[in-house]
Amino acid sequence: MMQTVLTIAGFDPSSGAGVTADLMVFAAHGLFGTSCITSLTVQSTVGVQASTPVSAETVRATLDCLESDLPAEGIKIGMLATAGNVAAVAEFLERLRGHGVRIPVVLDPVMRSSSGRELLDAEGVGVLRERLLPLVDWVTPNLEELGILAGRIVMQRGDMPEAARDLQAMGKELNVVATGGHLNPPDDLLMQAGGEMNWLPGEQIVSRSTHGTGCAFSSALLSRLVFGDAPLDAAVMAKRYVAEAIRTAEPRGKGLGPLNLLF
Ligand code: PLP
Repeated sequence: MMQTVLTIAGFDPSSGAGVTADLMVFAAHGLFGTSCITSLTVQSTVGVQASTPVSAETVRATLDCLESDLPAEGIKIGMLATAGNVAAVAEFLERLRGHGVRIPVVLDPVMRSSSGRELLDAEGVGVLRERLLPLVDWVTPNLEELGILAGRIVMQRGDMPEAARDLQAMGKELNVVATGGHLNPPDDLLMQAGGEMNWLPGEQIVSRSTHGTGCAFSSALLSRLVFGDAPLDAAVMAKRYVAEAIRTAEPRGKGLGPLNLLF
């Protein structure tokens, strides 16, 4: 029987990022995906125009409703939009822990779209760092998010290990994948909870189909973890999946198009 996994993220009507993309990633991995929408964005391949957050009450009710009927065997958390939604998700994870549920939880600490729009309010960043980070097993920041969470400047490859360790110290048994998609070469850094550090080599792919790359990576990582992959295997497989999804994507839209998540 297909395992059930949950994504908690924003809605992107152009299907490049957010829950729509996450559900495609889960389907591509042979998993049954459920979703909790945290914000309705107005966007296309050209960029994010607006974001209307879903209330924390609705997020809380959705998570409880799903858990009572379709309990997830893994959770991916993406865009949360508001401090209230971050707190609602943290409380949900605390309730699961209280009931003895131990499942992989991957946090993609989405703060801003590639087009520059804020996707998490300023108060939310603080609540994410203080309340949510200690409750997850994995976090997948890009360089900007890594810098903001670690409170230090992260511009290049050499800045990544120390910042990743800082982040790790904020969690409990936290695995960090710092994604270096904008670096050349676009290598990611895996800092495992056990202390081992690995560079995940990336290859530069010339493409305009890059919208939602972070969403796809974190969902693919969760999928591999639900299958029981070891940390390094899961991260390598997720990176490989995203590279192939970029490589095989057809151009779509006037801006940065979606990946081919169902190749
Ligand atoms: N929109 C939603 C709903 C998202 O969840 C995300 C990222 O996680 C984005 C937009 C940003 O995607 P990109 O960085 O590719 O613009």
